[in-house]
Amino acid sequence: GRPRKLSVQLHPYGNGRKLLLSRDVTGVEQAEVMRRDFVANVSHEIRTPLTVLAGFVETLQNLSLPPEEQARYLAMMAQQAQRMQGLVSDLLTLSRLEGSPLPGALEWSPLALFAAQAEDEGRGLIAALGKSQQLRFEPPPALELSGAAHELHSAMANLVTNAVRYTPSGGSIEVRWLVLQDGRVEFSVTDSGPGIAPEHLPRLTERFYRVDRSRSRDTGGTGLGLAIVKHVAQRHGAELAISSTLGVGSRFALTFPASRLRPQAASSPAARP
Ligand code: ADP
Repeated sequence: GRPRKLSVQLHPYGNGRKLLLSRDVTGVEQAEVMRRDFVANVSHEIRTPLTVLAGFVETLQNLSLPPEEQARYLAMMAQQAQRMQGLVSDLLTLSRLEGSPLPGALEWSPLALFAAQAEDEGRGLIAALGKSQQLRFEPPPALELSGAAHELHSAMANLVTNAVRYTPSGGSIEVRWLVLQDGRVEFSVTDSGPGIAPEHLPRLTERFYRVDRSRSRDTGGTGLGLAIVKHVAQRHGAELAISSTLGVGSRFALTFPASRLRPQAASSPAARP
């Protein structure tokens, strides 16, 4: 295996004698390296839009700019500010997910609710980006899922919005539900996007890991989306499976355990017509 790292200290304990203490610090050091990487990444992610913003401010200080030029710069500044807002909001979500256990009293929400929210976000993003994609949503089974509803919603919506962001216009996105024989339920998003090379797949859920930095930025990505999805899945005993073929498309699937599912109560809001 990997070499282990020991910290060795001599502790005096009377009569001039010393006690040799050794402690395995391999894990501690790894955690420290990860923490430092994370801080470096966050700083970089914040500095980039800030530098751009500062540059635009300087340009605008030139008062002789024609109004239409000013408007153009202000629009670009708004975009950079939005990017920083998105980043801070994702960072807060991640730290909340990492720092607190799943609350004990969990809500049951119909799958139809998550499906409707994910569809709204997908269609909203397509409109906002001015894209034209074929989005197909299969109606979910009449079941309820237990957990932190806002987290589950953000995990499912994240997979849909990623598909929208990475799939070019003219492409297609399909959201399906599958009840497995053992009672688990799989939610999957399949796109006809660029696909992801196999060497990247194992690292996709790492914070700030991106296959293509510039493409992720262009599409408004923070590099934290899949890290959030992974955390939400883990907290709910769900599995995240990713498969992809370069040039063909990708498939992201969340499989929820049977213990978190039950038939939809008659009183809960029904699926939209
Ligand atoms: P980002 O904010 O960069 O999208 P994510 O954590 O959501 O961050 O995704 C990590 C990376 O995985 C992305 O930068 C992108 O390279 C890749 N990726 C995610 N979803 C897709 C998809 N549907 N098609 C192709 N690549 C994807």
